[in-house]
Amino acid sequence: AKSRHRGEHSFFTRDMNVEIEERVKLLHGLRSAFDNERLFLMYQPQVRIESGEPVGVEALIRWRGDDGRFIPPDRFIPLAEHSGLIVNIGNWVMRLACYEQVKIAAAGFPNVQMAVNVSLAQFRHQDFINQVRSALADTGAVAHQIELEITESMAMEDADFVAGKLNELAQLGVKVAIDDFGTGFSSLSYLQRLRVDRLKIDRSFVKDLCTNQRCRQVAEMVIQLSRKLGLGVIAEGVEEADQAKVLLGLGCPDAQGYLYARPMEPEALHDWLAERRA
Ligand code: C2E
Ligand code: CA
Ligand code: CA
Ligand code: CA
Repeated sequence: AKSRHRGEHSFFTRDMNVEIEERVKLLHGLRSAFDNERLFLMYQPQVRIESGEPVGVEALIRWRGDDGRFIPPDRFIPLAEHSGLIVNIGNWVMRLACYEQVKIAAAGFPNVQMAVNVSLAQFRHQDFINQVRSALADTGAVAHQIELEITESMAMEDADFVAGKLNELAQLGVKVAIDDFGTGFSSLSYLQRLRVDRLKIDRSFVKDLCTNQRCRQVAEMVIQLSRKLGLGVIAEGVEEADQAKVLLGLGCPDAQGYLYARPMEPEALHDWLAERRA
């Protein structure tokens, strides 16, 4: 309480102004970073737990600031979302990720699929389906090797709209996963209506899988649910061998996390894949 003498109100207001100013600055920086190609993608492998075989990668955006330091996506994605900038950024991400899928396939890994995060504003944009179609056509990416990740909260938004979009995506041949699954505390009924391919168990449940009975039960429930609905399932944020073991025991075949690999730049990813050539 460095300025208590100013009184609660002015202290609060000043704080908010600083926050707004910071956000405006950040947004400005993001715009210029996008224009000046200071955004790039890293790729984090997804593996079959039993064999360690690479089955996919997730594209994760990075922003290198002027000072060389990274600004984490959790800080700028929400901002990009609010400002609408995410539509262009997201389209760029999708095209680059498709292009990388083609390169990975050409390097001898045609079965390694590419997961791409899609934000709500992007998903809702009227051009979204066309953008996906163009990304596929322009890069030559194989549609069924592209998996778009939408979050559970997005999937629950407006049931008819979402169901319609997912049908259109299915017609294009791309796959869809529900990210951060289990965090939405949703009624699960919406799931039967949505044409999705895979559920992604949120990191928060994986984290305490071995120590917290409830986390284990949520993970177990998601895995059973996926089986009953005929969907795939993958766990994110797997850091320890014990977690992988429990997940495999519960019937989850695939995992992503620091235990296997951190997000990597393309060159490192290609080395990593080459070391694991079957
Ligand atoms: P997400 O989609 O849930 O992505 C997984 C996040 O978990 C990534 O953080 C990844 O680096 C991190 N992670 C992976 N394995 C582990 C692990 O074993 N332990 C821990 N502690 N973390 C792990 P990242 O790259 O910082 O991304 C954060 C979020 O930003 C993403 O969460 C996603 O929601 C968003 N994001 C990232 N790239 C994009 C993008 O291109 N478009 C959109 N719309 N959102 C993106
Ligand atoms: Ca994701
Ligand atoms: Ca996730
Ligand atoms: Ca998550």
